[in-house]
Amino acid sequence: MNPMPQAVPTVVIVGRPNVGKSTLFNRITGQRRAIVGDEPGITRDRLHGLTEYRGRHFELIDTGGIVVDDADYIPGQILKQARVALDRAAHIILLVDGRSEITAPDRDLARMLLRLGKPVSLAVNKVDTASRDSLAHDFYSLGIRDIFPVSAEHGIGVDALIEHVTAGFSAATSAPAVTEEPPESIRVALIGRPNTGKSTLLNALTGQERAIVSPIAGTTRDSIDETVLHAGASYTFVDTAGIRRKGKTKLMAEKLSVVMARRSIRMADVVLVLLDASEGVLGLDATIAGYAHEGGRGVIVCVNKWDLIAERKKRAFEQDLRDQLKFLDYAPVLFLSAKTGAGVDRIFKLIREVYESTIKRVSTGELNRFVESLHFEERKIYYITQASVQPPTFVLFTNRKAPLHFSHERQLTNQIRRHFGFRGTPIVLKNKGKKG
Ligand code: GDP
Repeated sequence: MNPMPQAVPTVVIVGRPNVGKSTLFNRITGQRRAIVGDEPGITRDRLHGLTEYRGRHFELIDTGGIVVDDADYIPGQILKQARVALDRAAHIILLVDGRSEITAPDRDLARMLLRLGKPVSLAVNKVDTASRDSLAHDFYSLGIRDIFPVSAEHGIGVDALIEHVTAGFSAATSAPAVTEEPPESIRVALIGRPNTGKSTLLNALTGQERAIVSPIAGTTRDSIDETVLHAGASYTFVDTAGIRRKGKTKLMAEKLSVVMARRSIRMADVVLVLLDASEGVLGLDATIAGYAHEGGRGVIVCVNKWDLIAERKKRAFEQDLRDQLKFLDYAPVLFLSAKTGAGVDRIFKLIREVYESTIKRVSTGELNRFVESLHFEERKIYYITQASVQPPTFVLFTNRKAPLHFSHERQLTNQIRRHFGFRGTPIVLKNKGKKG
């Protein structure tokens, strides 16, 4: 994955459905909107792009990709859903349709945006040259002083708009560290027994209603992803409706937690396994953690409700946890309290780190040097190649056909980890044996 994008000012496009937000987005960024996501039936619109005008670099966010387009749009709802984007906006562009009347919701939206106390420009779209001036006049009544008639489709007036919007941004002497688009969202699953604090943690991570909520296309209505932008990177918590929905009976809730875990692990890059510090590691925890391990994703163990436990018990708890969940010895353990927020902020950085392990590639050259330094008696290893990522999978070319015994596999895996890191990701080894 790319390094963290350097902080650049953010410009946010807001407007009701069908006014031309994504056309304007594409026009400004000079990109076609990419549909990303490789799971069948799941498409995700790109929400933001990095772009530049006269050397002034900025990030553009199209809230059309955030707010679910709805004919009966409610301005308050748009604001709520786009909140996370608006909070970091250096400039807001309200886009309206110049060919239709100003509606009451347009007025409400304008008023709410102005109340944020940030610079707001009004772009009046779909205006042809003839009726330009007279039409744009009506729009002064929205109370936004800087008005720009544009045609996003034909590119008319867009330069004037962007010149104004970026006027206060400093022109970089060199391009920011990352000139390509920011990395796509890292997909994160929260799993764990009932009452370990999944929904409390989800609220803490997404800041209640500030997350970008989007239904997963092609699945039932109660499958919902929530995306959060944090320190310039994007995190999508997958399949969160099930976290918020609670089973009626204890048995039901327990079964549901296992079903949920198995389903959302498949959709995730990184899995957070929640434990309840006040209860220790129970059988069901081990079952659920086992699925996380077998899923081949990045894993972080989150020991929640740490506010109920004395700090000096940390060591003993971790030891107990390592004994019970031996197979997760590669996973970092985080002690936190979803309720008080202690430790919660550290999750994001750890997710990135673990994600990067899952997609890390080691060159054959490095692996050759590693093989030379290797202490391994059980069979002769000629060389090793990394066949794939997520999880990192290595093929060992050896002098024996029999698969590696568990203990030898472990011995090798540990040496690979010691040498190359791979914190938080399972590693898969495959033996390819040749006689002689
Ligand atoms: P879920 O079933 O895993 O989604 O669990 P909930 O988020 O509903 O939490 C279950 C209970 O644990 C609720 O009463 C929460 O208030 C409580 N809880 C969650 N996190 C913490 C925490 O960090 N500390 C404490 N003391 N209680 C917590």
